[in-house]
Order: sequence, then C-alpha cells, then structure tokens
Amino acid sequence: MVALSHSPLLDATDALQNYFGYTEFREGQAPLVEGVLSGQDVLGIMPTGGGKSLCYQIPALLLPHITLVISPLISLMKDQVDALLEIGISATFINSTLDEATLRTRLIEIRQKQYKLIYIAPERLNSYLIRSLFSALPISFIAVDEAHCISKWGHDFRPAYGEIIDFVHQLPNRPVIGAYTATATSEVIHEIKTLLQLHNPIESIISFDRTNLTFEVLKVSDKRRYIINFIRRFYPNESGIIYCATRNNVEKLTEFLKNAGLKVLAYHGGMEHHEREKNQNAFIRDEVQIIVATNAFGMGIDKSNVRFVIHYNMPQNMEAYYQEAGRAGRDGAPAHCLLLYAPRDVSNQKYLIEHNDFITDPERKDILYHNLEALIDYCHTEECLRAEILHYFSETPQFDHCNNCSNCTNTAPKINITIEAQKILSCVYRAEQNCGITTIIQILRGSKNQHILSRNLDQLSTYGIMREYSESGLKEMIMTLIARGYLYQTTEARPLLKLNIGKAKLILTGQKQLFHRQDLLLHKTFSAPENHYHSPLYEEIRAFRLMLSKERDVPAYTIFSDKTLRELAEKQPTTQGQMLQIHGIGVKKFDLYGERLMELIRHHQAHQA
Ligand code: ADP
Repeated sequence: MVALSHSPLLDATDALQNYFGYTEFREGQAPLVEGVLSGQDVLGIMPTGGGKSLCYQIPALLLPHITLVISPLISLMKDQVDALLEIGISATFINSTLDEATLRTRLIEIRQKQYKLIYIAPERLNSYLIRSLFSALPISFIAVDEAHCISKWGHDFRPAYGEIIDFVHQLPNRPVIGAYTATATSEVIHEIKTLLQLHNPIESIISFDRTNLTFEVLKVSDKRRYIINFIRRFYPNESGIIYCATRNNVEKLTEFLKNAGLKVLAYHGGMEHHEREKNQNAFIRDEVQIIVATNAFGMGIDKSNVRFVIHYNMPQNMEAYYQEAGRAGRDGAPAHCLLLYAPRDVSNQKYLIEHNDFITDPERKDILYHNLEALIDYCHTEECLRAEILHYFSETPQFDHCNNCSNCTNTAPKINITIEAQKILSCVYRAEQNCGITTIIQILRGSKNQHILSRNLDQLSTYGIMREYSESGLKEMIMTLIARGYLYQTTEARPLLKLNIGKAKLILTGQKQLFHRQDLLLHKTFSAPENHYHSPLYEEIRAFRLMLSKERDVPAYTIFSDKTLRELAEKQPTTQGQMLQIHGIGVKKFDLYGERLMELIRHHQAHQA
C-alpha cells in the first residue's frame, strides 16, 4: 500500500489542473485514478478519446516510485512522451525504434531514476536486461494500455501481452496493476482480468457515446467531387483523415485531391516504411491537412485536432468503423464522421471475407459476416445513427433522437415504396434468383444490353416495368430491401440476389407497407451542420501554435488542442488569472506560452479597436 497523507483525489485534481490545465475529471476517470492512488488494481473501459491516458499519467505523477506503461503502440509512445515532457513530467520510452547506443544510455538514465514514467513495448519485458533492471528498481504501478491485446477474442491479439504477468511475478514486490482498453465485450473483459491476475479491481466502464461527433451516412454519385466540396465548404483549413478500403483507392484519391489543390498525403501498408512514417509525421504536425489511408493508419495516433474522418469505402465492421471514425474530435470539440456508402462496397467486403486465406475457421467467417451485416444495417437505417451505434455496443441510449446525425437532422419526407418493392421482388423471383443487382436493374429498366437479350431476360413479365426510375434510385431501393432483410446477396465474387421468402411474401401480398426517405431516392445530400470554428484571432493563434510546434519540434496539438485555441479566441484572456481558466492551460503551459499569447491577444484587440 502507498502511504498517503491526505485525500488522493485532492492531489489528483491539483495535478489535473496544474499539469494538464483541465478543471475536472471526465466521467469514469476519478475512480480509476483514486483507486490506483489508494493501492487498488483497476480496470478502465472507455471509448477511444475517452481519456484513458490521464488515468495512469496522474497516478504516475503522484506515486512515490516509477510507473511502467505497457503499450503496443510505438508511435503513441513517442507522442505521449513528447506531450508529457512538454508539461514538465519526466517520461521516456523503450521500444524497437531505439538504436543500441540510445538504448544503453536510456537504461542508465532509468537506473539513475531520472524518469517517473516509462513506456515500454510488451515484447521487451522478457529480455534479461530489462527484467534485471526493473527488479532492482522500486516500481509503484504498472499500467497496461490497450489491455484487450491480451485476449484472443480481441481484434489486436499480441502474444507478448501474455508474458506481462511473468514479468510481474519476478519483481520483488507486486506493484498496483491497472488495465485500460476501449473494447468492452464480455469475453475480452474476462480474459483481461484473469490473465493479468487483477486483484478485485475497481472497474469503471463508461458510455461509448461520443456526443461531440456528428455522424453522417451518404450515398453520392460522385464521391471524389463530393469530398472536395465537403472539405472546401466545411473544413478548408482543418485536419482530416480519409479512409479507403484498398491501397489502389488511396493512391488514386490522393492524386485526385492533390490535383485539386489540397494538401494531402497517402498512407498504406504497401509503402516503404520510412515514407509512411514521414507522411504520418507531416500529418501529425499539421504540415499537410489531410491523410488518405487504409486501415493500416491510426493505431496509436493521438492527434486530437482531427476535425473530420471520411470513409470513402465502407469498412469491415462496426468495431473498425467506430474505432476509425472515433479518431475525429478526441479533444472534445465538434467533429464530423462521414461514411460515403456505395452498394458495391458490400460485395467487395464480402469478397474479402470469402477469399481471405487466413480465415479457415467457418465459425470465424460467420462472425465476420454477421459483423459486416451490422454495418450494412447502419448504412441503411432510418433511425438515429448514434442510437444504432450504441445498441451495437450493448448500450441502451437514453434518447430516440440525438439531433446530431444525418438521420435525426434530415427532415425529408418519406414516401411509400411498397409497389416498387413488389416489382423488384417479383423480378428477382422471375429471374429465378439467378441474377445480380446490375442485371436485375437492367431487366427492370428494359435494357437492350446484349447480356440481357442473349439470356432471354427481355421475355420476363417484369422486363421494363420500372423504366421511369433511375439506375441509382433502383439500386437504392434494392439495397434497402437487402438491409431490411427482404433480399440477400450470395457471397460469390459476383453475388446473386435471392429472396428471403418468408419476409418477401409479406410485401408481395400487401400485408406490409414499405417507406423510404424521398431525398435518398432523389440523391439529394444532407447539409452538414456548421461544426467548424473560425475567426481571425483563432487563425492567428493557430499560426502561433504552428510556429511553436516547429520551434519545439513537437506536434501542434501537444502544445494546445483545438478546443484550447477556440476558448482562447472566444474568451480572449489577457491576465494570468483569466488564462488559467482556459481549458488545457495549466501553470506549466502558462509559464511557457502565457506572456506571448496575451501579447498576441492584446495586439489583436488593439488592431480591432
Ligand atoms: P484515449 O487514450 O482514451 O483514446 P486520450 O487519453 O488520448 O484518450 O484523451 C483524449 C483527449 O482528451 C486528449 O486530448 C486529452 O488531453 C483529453 N482529456 C483527457 N482527460 C480530460 C479531462 N479530464 N478534461 C479535459 N480533457 C481531457
């Protein structure tokens, strides 16, 4: 047990204000911090951006001895250490990026107790050198970040996590252990507790709801044009990530956006390591505005001022989507998550599952299909998108409408499409459930395509019965029928459309009516809320931040978050007292930048007058 003279939470709140410049703990943080400080193991489950890092950084500051943070995320380590050094906390890291000489020096510094907080990759824990070093040092606390990596059920299984407990056993005294993750399924939680041998941990599980994120799903005919207009109109100067499903898409889209004059770089697993890293750093440091990437990008990216995440293609499942989209708005300021959906994405994802040589277990394949289905439903639902996400993560939202997603804010009228649905379902039936979406659309529109004529599909009674509908309108209706379970697609590379007879009958016999949003059929688009914040002063402070970031060679957001920038621009503090009230400005930040900031604000005010 750690000896404490007075309330641990008081000290922790002081540290939160003085070092981090935040006035209060967020939901779920205080019990975790207090638990560790009073010698209890803890288990913290919070969505990405929820603020897990502080839950171990603050105890690390206040505990008498060393804190080890075990993390799989090498890029995150450097970022976090930079940010900690920036606010005056002695921290360092050990991972495979260090060369021999640096490692040696660092180990000596650690032995000399120069660091309070040490990040370490799990793979390092079984090295003899590391074990003997830490066995000879007093360790107060071990924080296991991304703790789901210990579980085979988790999506990022890391065998080295299994060795953590061996490492703990060979220490002379067992430190307090804290485990932190954003994965909340019961299997994973169970494995974390058992494999890390947590002693009656204090658990803090908080909602996955990220209220500052605006969710939007959109089907547009020209995704690339849409993206350009979206960025120019809503986020002309703000950081954003665009995820694509394939490397090829990443390269083409990057080229296209570059030609349109945007500052953008690519990131995918096929690039040379050093180039990938260079691009990632340029993005983190606000040297480019946008990164176009595959899902290889983002693990451990702590950039808090990402204002939009666009999915150019539908990702694999809801977990992946929420994790990627969740990289927007980590600073708590409004941010936008846009999923540009195309029916083709579904067949592409199914094809990837079906032809993935690494998935041989049929049960695992079923799970993947099931997970994909959840995301398809998300793309087609007319209910609140946020509620849909929370249901997926086994939460019961306290609202029906969040008023901050494209479904809640869309007031487009709905139209009855029962007759249309009957025609489509009949056509699938007449075509003997042996055609794909494109062919069904061609039949319905009466196409004279050779492929239709040679198969005598023009002889079907449903040939040409929906000539007046556009191809995209028909596709939308078919996808809706799939999403709502009246039709399904087979899993071949060229999927066939089949009827779910039981449900389809209800429509065909008129027992069930079907409604659909008119605007989607007409391809109008949702107009995004005005999330971004701009003012001349904001831009001046932003430029100042960029200059500081270059001067100090650290990412801009580790100096001030966008939220801090916004508060500075709005409240225009010109005294130390006012300055310390600003979110993200503590004593240390004030000492470093306070005077220059106040001067900038005063100068701005004088100019305005
Ligand atoms: P996670 O690791 O859970 O994804 P982080 O620890 O990176 O999230 O925190 C996300 C952002 O929230 C960071 O910019 C962090 O500084 C900020 N943050 C964390 N705790 C607080 C708090 N109590 N008040 C204000 N901002 C906070």
